[in-house]
Amino acid sequence: MKFAIFGDIHANLEALNAVLEDAKNHDCTHYVCIGDIVGYNANPRECLNIIRSLDCPVVKGNHDEVASSDSELVGLNPLAQHSMQWTRDNLDSEDKLYLRELKLLRQVRDFTIVHATLDSPASWGYVTTKFDALESLGYQYTPVCFFGHTHVPAFYVKSLRIEEYTGKSLEIEPGKKYQINVGSVGQPRDGDPRSSYCIYDLGAQRVINRRIEYDIKRTQEKIFDEGLPKQLAERLSEGK
Ligand code: ZN
Repeated sequence: MKFAIFGDIHANLEALNAVLEDAKNHDCTHYVCIGDIVGYNANPRECLNIIRSLDCPVVKGNHDEVASSDSELVGLNPLAQHSMQWTRDNLDSEDKLYLRELKLLRQVRDFTIVHATLDSPASWGYVTTKFDALESLGYQYTPVCFFGHTHVPAFYVKSLRIEEYTGKSLEIEPGKKYQINVGSVGQPRDGDPRSSYCIYDLGAQRVINRRIEYDIKRTQEKIFDEGLPKQLAERLSEGK
């Protein structure tokens, strides 16, 4: 059984379709979404509809939370504020209800999913180092946890000590614990503009990170057409 595990889609329809196509071509039969379906890019409703149609486990991201609330948009930079207001205006009440009711944390089979961290999932901290991963691991009761939020894929492995593993394919071994950042479908930030997601092969006990090309130009055109900040389009070609 193979799971495609992906998140930080951020309303990027071309990237989401490319990832799902790749997952299908690699015999994935199950899907899991790590959150941040909306925000930044121009197809929030279309992406939401696809995720709902997959009928798969989903956890809430910080953008999903803000987009589905009526709270004042404070503490966001002007770019994020502009795109968030646009996102709110382009979701209907049913979309918002779906996002609002997502859980912060879920267990799927023998693994856990969360958008940000397990130690305080509602405060949206970032796991960017092995020490951050270790704090999150303190609250991890399954061998493997998949998360996102930084938009940078990463594997952290804990046996006696915690280490970051820099390969693209990781074997899950008994007695160890794993924190796996699946990267971002719709707005990668590690300098590689290709979409990132992971495939977890339960039978083989192996997780691989895949990078997928998509039609960035098309996504950028939609951002321009909707009058969203042009920096949001530019960053997609640079992968940051
Ligand atoms: Zn995000």
